[in-house]
Amino acid sequence: MSGIIQLLPDHVANQIAAGEVVQRPASVVKELIENAVDAKATEIKLIVKDAGKTLIQVIDNGLGMNVTDARLCFERHATSKIRHAEDLFALHTKGFRGEALASIAAVAHVELKTKQDQEELGIHIIIEGSKVITQDVAVLPKGTSFLVKNLFFNIPARRNFLKSDNIELKHIIDEFERVALAHPTISFTMISNGSEVFNLPSSNYRQRIVNIFGGKTNEKLVPVTEETEILKITGFVGKPEFAKKNRSEQFFLVNNRYIRSPFLHHAIMNAYDGLLRDNNQPSYFLFLEVPPHTIDINIHPTKTEVKFDDEQALYAILRATVKHSLGMFNVAPILDFERDANLDVPYDYKDKTLGTPTIQVDRSFNPFETENETKKYSGSSVSYTKNKQAQPHWESLYTNLKQEASEVSVDAFETDLVASTLFDDKSTESQTLLYQFNRKYIINSIKSGLLVIHQSRAHQRILYEQFLTNITIYQASSQQLLFPLEIQFSRDEMLYLKEIQPNLEGIGFAFEKMGLDVLIISGLPAQISESNVTEILHDLIYNLQENVPEDSFSLSDSISKFMAKSVAIKSGKYLNTIELENIVNGLFACKDPNVSPFQKPIFITLTTEDLDKRF
Ligand code: ADP
Ligand code: MG
Repeated sequence: MSGIIQLLPDHVANQIAAGEVVQRPASVVKELIENAVDAKATEIKLIVKDAGKTLIQVIDNGLGMNVTDARLCFERHATSKIRHAEDLFALHTKGFRGEALASIAAVAHVELKTKQDQEELGIHIIIEGSKVITQDVAVLPKGTSFLVKNLFFNIPARRNFLKSDNIELKHIIDEFERVALAHPTISFTMISNGSEVFNLPSSNYRQRIVNIFGGKTNEKLVPVTEETEILKITGFVGKPEFAKKNRSEQFFLVNNRYIRSPFLHHAIMNAYDGLLRDNNQPSYFLFLEVPPHTIDINIHPTKTEVKFDDEQALYAILRATVKHSLGMFNVAPILDFERDANLDVPYDYKDKTLGTPTIQVDRSFNPFETENETKKYSGSSVSYTKNKQAQPHWESLYTNLKQEASEVSVDAFETDLVASTLFDDKSTESQTLLYQFNRKYIINSIKSGLLVIHQSRAHQRILYEQFLTNITIYQASSQQLLFPLEIQFSRDEMLYLKEIQPNLEGIGFAFEKMGLDVLIISGLPAQISESNVTEILHDLIYNLQENVPEDSFSLSDSISKFMAKSVAIKSGKYLNTIELENIVNGLFACKDPNVSPFQKPIFITLTTEDLDKRF
């Protein structure tokens, strides 16, 4: 019987290999730009149409190729960059596998034009699905142009799998930024659907960062430098107060190559210890140089992960260097006598200081209103207000009481109950009593016992249902702003906002302009105030990026959820009677008042029997 094993034909093997290298248009962009850098270009131009789905072109003024190389470059394992396995340990180029062009040519229509400086004429080759269609000589400028059309034309499943244009374009921009950042002396331009997205002249690192991330970045940057035998660090970290929710401005470039390293990231976070508010992320643009033989970049096919010989030492050096740079920046302003001393307290400790007592003002409180009004303050406060009707300092009594309660003093709780029963008159039986406990829960006395409502989750539920309805029926009311609000975003954040523009408008946002890196808002949803809209939108983008929704329903759902979460009142917020009532009434008008949009319980009931059992 004859053998059953066959060698796969080249074009099939290439298609399979392509699966690893070419996942989306952005992968093509990365490979082509990196090749242009390796070819020593000083100017690189990227042109895309429909987020690279229709066309990707990279034009460089680099070394170009001769006829033989122009044909050979599409073969698998055809590379000019390594000759021996040992060369892998002394890499100075981006490419080395000789796989990219073979893979791209297997899944797209490719047109190559290339000419070397010393040649009169260049070569023009057209390849479709690994097959050479034409090969001519042509009059060309020095350098190389790769044109990639109809990506995945022969793998429809892959094509369908691609995300929307805005999302794919965001990936392209990510790759573009990474290479552009690593090579500030090369000038880069990027054009998408006929309009210029980036125009980055040859410059130094600092200018390159500012040109990519916007003029305001300059004031954020703290320089970092260190040179040891095993590691040289240059670059910048962001001042802590500019830290943001997302990680879009975090870059490690090791030997001029963008890499991801959770380990080194950890070292940086460690250096920022105590300086960051909440879970904010610092910006960093760090250029690390290590001897090539001490890293292995070969462990990941898309080459964004590397392995270092001596990770522990790198960690320690990086952490200490960043800490030192931040320290230099922190120390300098102390000479400024105007400086507010509070700013010197790390955020971690800020909340821990014994602050001066806060005074709570209930603006809806009217001292001239009599019993009916004050009676609404349920439970313990009722007992006190009844004793001294409309006494002007009742608020402070109320606050003190709550502080006692927060110390979980059982005694106090008991006295409260006793006190309120003492003063309970018949009429309150039928009335709903609301009381805010520990600035976190709303206690509602109902016929069968007590209802304990989590104020923040209840508000999340109310907002979530409002937002979701509004997105779906597109009928939200919008409050027009007197002066339009201008907010800066990075380019990829702007793309995200464009992606969700219809949903945001559904909720009640009105936009005057959606630029490349600026958003002008002319109207806001009723639930959102001008002062926190910037943070809310940044949070939203961050959350959506972390949990990419699969379809349009889950997109609307996620937007409503995360919006509700950041807009909802938080635990710790004092609520007046009207607010308490609004939340309770709003909650029980919801379709599903039981659980928060994140599936957490919103309230519990304590029945009279439950209570009786405890006595
Ligand atoms: P690799 O970059 O790993 O060598 P590629 O498939 O990306 O593999 O490229 C194959 C070869 O084609 C390269 O080694 C290089 O010699 C040549 N090449 C590719 N792009 C260019 C370019 N823009 N200019 C000059 N030569 C190029
Ligand atoms: Mg390459």
